[in-house]
Amino acid sequence: MRVLKIAVTVLMLAVAGLAQTAPEQNLKLDQVIDRVAQQEAAFMESLRDYRPLVETYIQEMRADKELGMVPQRDQYFLAKADFSQSIREHVFAGAGADTKHHHLTFISKKFSSPFAMRYVDEGFLQGIILDTRDFDQGHYQFELLRREFLGDVRCLVFDVSPRKGSGPGRFQGRIWVEDQDYHVVRFSGTRVNAPRFHFYFHFDSWRLNMGPGVWLPAYVYTEENDVQYGIMSHVHFKAQTRLWGYDLKSSHRQDELTTVLVESPNAIADHAEQTQDRGPLEALHAWQRLSEDNVVDRMERAGLLAPRGEVEKVLETVVNNILVTNNLDIQPEVRCRVLLTAPLESFTMAHTIVISRGLIDTLPDEASLAMILAHELGHVTLGHAIDTRWAFSDRMIFSDYEAFNRLDFRRTPAEEQAADQKAVELLQKSPYANKLSEGGLFLRALSARSKDLPNLVTAHLGNRLALGNQVMRMQTVAQSAPALNLNQPDQIAALPLGARLKLDPWTDRVEMMKSKPVASTSAREKMPFEVTPFSPFLTRKSSSPPQVSAGATAQATPAPVPAAPAAAEEKPQTENR
Ligand SMILES: [Zn+2]
Repeated sequence: MRVLKIAVTVLMLAVAGLAQTAPEQNLKLDQVIDRVAQQEAAFMESLRDYRPLVETYIQEMRADKELGMVPQRDQYFLAKADFSQSIREHVFAGAGADTKHHHLTFISKKFSSPFAMRYVDEGFLQGIILDTRDFDQGHYQFELLRREFLGDVRCLVFDVSPRKGSGPGRFQGRIWVEDQDYHVVRFSGTRVNAPRFHFYFHFDSWRLNMGPGVWLPAYVYTEENDVQYGIMSHVHFKAQTRLWGYDLKSSHRQDELTTVLVESPNAIADHAEQTQDRGPLEALHAWQRLSEDNVVDRMERAGLLAPRGEVEKVLETVVNNILVTNNLDIQPEVRCRVLLTAPLESFTMAHTIVISRGLIDTLPDEASLAMILAHELGHVTLGHAIDTRWAFSDRMIFSDYEAFNRLDFRRTPAEEQAADQKAVELLQKSPYANKLSEGGLFLRALSARSKDLPNLVTAHLGNRLALGNQVMRMQTVAQSAPALNLNQPDQIAALPLGARLKLDPWTDRVEMMKSKPVASTSAREKMPFEVTPFSPFLTRKSSSPPQVSAGATAQATPAPVPAAPAAAEEKPQTENR
């Protein structure tokens, strides 16, 4: 393969309409590639400082006559990555047993196939690292193809292949390099020269800019159409890996000692409100609120709950719509939070409703969101209390890995049933009364898929929404819904994962996706509950990540009109492919 020997300058001049001019534009191509290699080596070093959360969700697919490929089995894991051990010694070539799981400590792990184990053992690092040791001109050939914008970020696009004899496990594919500091921001391809009994996956891996000069892995999409695993089995799968929690106090080594004593400003505000002793009932409420606050705070520190932001306000608007029309004034006020994981679940801790990112993603409209929230309001109005043992903060001292084992917000079947019944009452008086069928349709879609996606419907902290083919929640609403027709393109009963929420991997904040929903033209494009490729709109962070106080903005912008989850704002995706 021929290496282009032209200077980058020539190419830059050839491309019309370039507003920005980088000071480095006079570099020769060889020099640019050397800079890329240096940045990649620096990236490998910088990874040591971070302990992000890593979530991988795998869907194994089968062929369906009408729907194309549909999921038939799923696998899930959530872990905390630790790159402080020497990652450089890892070679993507039949890694020995000692390197397996080296960098991951599991918070949750649900595997039902040996293939998934293999994927986790070897696939995870493959997807976020180009080459653990020497991604440079000595080991690779670089061919400059063109320049291209990924979102707002102008990139140089290279095809990269390992030089002859550079050994197994080297990357082959395409890389996108931003053209100011030469960080790799995306790579797409696989590895070559697999030893026997070993295989490599295909990845599309994205890094996001999280501060000046800091680009860290955020999304990896993997897809294989025919992995031969073992002698007989052929696996067709697709998977999404997401990383977040980069700025968690517990994630960033340097911060560990310096932030221990920092007080939350909210805690101080609470103090000022109280001017005398509380009466017995008031004291009980305060005690329960303390339990809630302790748990919320602990989960936020573990990277499991998003800090309060605009999405929480949208959820609370829907909650208020239901409460106001039912003449309910609940004190202390009901709050909503987002659990950052994909499995579909919602639960309530006294007056705090928690709903998972995956569930918000897949709910097709505001009415079905209202149905989920109404069930939780059922628990609230029926006074299903929180376990007040959490009021003692010593019980919040456990490692992040134990969070799902230590915390448990499951309700008894009787409480679940009572909450369902109450929810129907609440909904019938609400603005969503004549749209119950939409929520019911979502539940029907869930029951149609849940048997094949057991890990997506396994709740970590609350009650499951479905088991096997059976919906476990709001069954009367599901029964009254119109017939589900998966083959009908315009009947959207549930959305793909990632359809609504965008998660900032640095701050853990979530926001509604700004992309305009695109109508599916065939039933194959509906992909309810499925994973899809990523296509983030890359931007540069000009300064350090913003430290906005969500509490301050929450009061400044009340949202009187219920904001439909389908965001109205739009920003065109200008990514070229
Ligand atoms: Zn419940």
